[in-house]
Amino acid sequence: MRPFKYISATTGEQALQAAEANEKGKYLGGGTNLVDLMKEDVERPDHLIEVADLEYNSIQENKKGGLTLGAMVSNSDTANHPEVRQKYPLLSMAMLSAATAQIRNMATNGGNLLQRTRCPYFYETSMPCNKREPGSGCGAKKGMNANHAIFGYSDSCVAVHPSDMCVALAALNAEVEVMQTNGKTKMIPFEDFHRLPGDQPEKDTNLGKAELITAIHLPKPIYADHYYYLKIRERSSYAFALISVAAGVQIKNGTIASAGLAMGGVAHKPWKLTKAEKFLKGKQPSTENFERAAAIALEEAKPLSENGYKVPMGEKAIVRALTQAYQREV
Ligand code: SF4
Repeated sequence: MRPFKYISATTGEQALQAAEANEKGKYLGGGTNLVDLMKEDVERPDHLIEVADLEYNSIQENKKGGLTLGAMVSNSDTANHPEVRQKYPLLSMAMLSAATAQIRNMATNGGNLLQRTRCPYFYETSMPCNKREPGSGCGAKKGMNANHAIFGYSDSCVAVHPSDMCVALAALNAEVEVMQTNGKTKMIPFEDFHRLPGDQPEKDTNLGKAELITAIHLPKPIYADHYYYLKIRERSSYAFALISVAAGVQIKNGTIASAGLAMGGVAHKPWKLTKAEKFLKGKQPSTENFERAAAIALEEAKPLSENGYKVPMGEKAIVRALTQAYQREV
């Protein structure tokens, strides 16, 4: 690991100032991903700005009738919080499917949003990777890409986003609260927080320079009764999703009043299934409609040389997640 300087910030303003003053500085939350990447010489920050002890460490009701999750709350405390379990069980379910209890105890909510792809070429410094080293090429595009994207990729990068939490947040239409360098805060709709690779795959999010995530806002809960997070992976624990689906459905008078749907393991960002959500609105919760929604969701998929399996698997996963969500006994 390369040497770095350590700064312990006690206020958000102090953290922002330190990040602005040190262009190669990085915020340090739980460190569960960043420190691994530093050990592998993938990340090379010259300053680590500790933000885990900042004040953004509570879970509270917000003005929209939802919950605000502090960025520094651990993933375990969030997933097990009584209000989250009761009102947003989809989020709890997704978060508890991720990593191990030990990692969830350390990982922060803000850090979860910023975790980096697990593309093996990204971790292997002897291989080309535009995300790690812009301009070096993409080893996965014509290499081992069985676990890579089927949507929204570019010639520069075909990686997928690894988070389970973020898939649920996309389905739930969350917003990310960010402190800017002028001290003001702004809200970013979750769908706009992460970005597609384009010709700048080194950028995972639309955060501006030095901007600090302070909270995640959840809207009024409408999927507390009918929800499911389906994660398909190569083994049953401590593995990232090949495909995942977060599904929430709101049923009124026997029809679907609203659906929240997103997929993981298929794109550079959590993949919101907007067209399928629109299709389901006002429909009967039937297998036929779930299958149609799944077909709509996969319509624009463009598999790579080794991941064609993700298209039928994705369709089946959506149908299964919607069915489980609908049939769930409250
Ligand atoms: Fe790097 Fe992205 Fe290509 Fe993987 S897919 S090798 S992360 S550029």
